[in-house]
Amino acid sequence: MADDDNDNDDEEEQNQNSIKVILVGDSGTGKTNLIGVATGQQFNAATLTTTTCSYMRIVIKINDIEYKVNLWDTIGQEKYKSMTKIFFKNSKIVLYVYDVTKRETFDSLKNWKNTIDEILGDVPTVGVVANKCDLYLEEQVKENEGKQYADEIGAKFIYTSAKLDAINFKAFIEEMVKEYVNKFEIKKNNEIIIDKKNHKKKENKNDRKKCC
Ligand code: GDP
Repeated sequence: MADDDNDNDDEEEQNQNSIKVILVGDSGTGKTNLIGVATGQQFNAATLTTTTCSYMRIVIKINDIEYKVNLWDTIGQEKYKSMTKIFFKNSKIVLYVYDVTKRETFDSLKNWKNTIDEILGDVPTVGVVANKCDLYLEEQVKENEGKQYADEIGAKFIYTSAKLDAINFKAFIEEMVKEYVNKFEIKKNNEIIIDKKNHKKKENKNDRKKCC
């Protein structure tokens, strides 16, 4: 990704009605396909969906306000941990994805969570996505185990399959976005953001002049 693209992406993510959602997890767990199907593409059984975009967008309306929900895929970044810091910046929702037929992808969620915690600190809204449930005969991680891990880390849980039209995945994202929006009431007129939890008024980053 070029530096210019990063700058544009950062500006995009600081736009108040944009919500950056990142899908993290080992390569091959189905992140690209989940995003693809959730945004109206066909399931891709053969190879990775090649895309020059960093994210795919869906628009979700909550209380008459439209939110641009940008679903970011870690295209190859799994191999280049040094790139993850830039990539994870400004994420509001993190979805940890594993493949139910590969225990190692479930086990490595702990490492992914450590990486996220180091970079982002406390992420407001977190989900665990058990993918490839169509392959239940080859399952190595039972649904209960995934659910238990999600409970442990305070995340919502979904058991789905990109291949089966990503069952409930879009609704799951909507639920996460609502949770995020309800935690952080976002004013439509862009003047201020009220952090309900801390009862603090925050300056909108867009109002600040950039120094570099
Ligand atoms: P990523 O590397 O995490 O982005 O994973 P991809 O979306 O590229 O998927 C990796 C492989 O798993 C591809 O061959 C997909 O066709 C396949 N795949 C993804 N999701 C599913 C699913 O729900 N069921 C099955 N059977 N295969 C899947």
